[in-house]
Formats: sequence, structure tokens, C-alpha cells
Amino acid sequence: MSSASEHRKDLIEVCRLAYQRGYLCGTEGNLSIRISERTILSTASATCKGRIEDADLLICDQEGNLIPSSSQRNGARLSTELKMHLRAYSERPDIFAIVHAHPVTAVGFTVAGKSLEQAVLPEVVCTMGSIPTAPYATPSTDEVPDSIGELARTHDAILLDHHGAITFGADIWSAFYKMETLEHFAKTIMVAELLGGTQALPKQRVEQLLSIRSVYGLTRPVIVKE
Ligand SMILES: [Zn+2]
Repeated sequence: MSSASEHRKDLIEVCRLAYQRGYLCGTEGNLSIRISERTILSTASATCKGRIEDADLLICDQEGNLIPSSSQRNGARLSTELKMHLRAYSERPDIFAIVHAHPVTAVGFTVAGKSLEQAVLPEVVCTMGSIPTAPYATPSTDEVPDSIGELARTHDAILLDHHGAITFGADIWSAFYKMETLEHFAKTIMVAELLGGTQALPKQRVEQLLSIRSVYGLTRPVIVKE
């Protein structure tokens, strides 16, 4: 188990990487770590993740009430999108970190009304299964947590229609790598579409991949859409 200072350091490093990789722009997105059974460390609202500092990290309880700390910046507020994180943590006792970002290619798929659910790349099938799209939800309302609630139980990566993506992990690095894989996958599919179309893996190949997941230490079941 990481110490509180390691969690803070990791969260800052992942925020900066996510910004550099273009998964977020301006002050968009929010990331969090469940640091104890009852407390969550998250990025403050309206913070550029590329310039984030320790004072921009806030602690709240599982109901989303701010727990003031001496290290936080004056006037720092929790994000309205934190509700989505809290919902995912309540649905998934096995996850301890969440990355919510707006990666351009993946979001482009939702804007175009296209799905990323097909089983195409072995890496994606094994680690995340199919990536579903949650229905459109008005930002900052309860529609947002409600839109992902059920999908969060069975998926580690979800697209948010006309909005962004959210990924879950046992730690913040694992959640970040899933965001990276998701956007890389979206780019690969876009290139395939430009080259004439995506050819999904045959059902038999998908079954074979699912049967060898344990070799990679992957034990949580994934759902693959046929
Ligand atoms: Zn967002």
C-alpha cells in the first residue's frame, strides 16, 4: 500500500502525463485515487492538469464532502464530475483509481455516432474487453453518474457520449494505461477505417484470447461484444 505522499506524487505525475499526451486540454478532466476506505484524493475543479501542484489536490469523503486540509489552495473546489468517480467507487470495491479525460480520437467516435465495442486488437480484448459508450448526459447533473453506473460494474473503460472517457484501475497508473490504450485503439480503428474498413477478430480467436488471459494474471472477467 502506497503512503499518502506517494499517492499525491503519482496523481500529479499522471495528470501531467495525461495533459502532455493530449488527453485533456485547458482545465478539463479529473483524476482521483481512493486513498482509504472512506477518503478520496482528487484533482480540484478548474485546474490545468499540465501545471497541477500539490495544493490543487483535495480530499473528500465517499459522499463527496470536502475534508479541508492545510495543504490545499485557498478557494479550491471539488469538481462537479467527482459524482461520477464516487458512483464508480461505490459500484466497484476492487478499483482504487479513476482517470476521466477527453481524448480527441475516442471522443470523436462518439460524436460521429460510432462505437469502439468491436473485438479488434488482442491487447484490448485481454485487458479491457469491449469498450461501451454510456448514453449522453448533461454535464454536472446526476445524469452523468447514472449514465455510467451499470456499465462501471462490468467494464474498466467506458466512453461518454459527446463528452469523454473514464477508466478504472487498481492504482492510478493502471487507470492511466487503460486511458492510453483506449485512445491508441481509437486511433488504430480510425486508420483502419481510412484504409478501407475494420475487420474484427473472428469469434474463435476472441475465445482463444479470453482463455489465455490468466497467463497474464488477468482474472477479472471481461465482456466482449460479438
Ligand atoms: Zn469531462
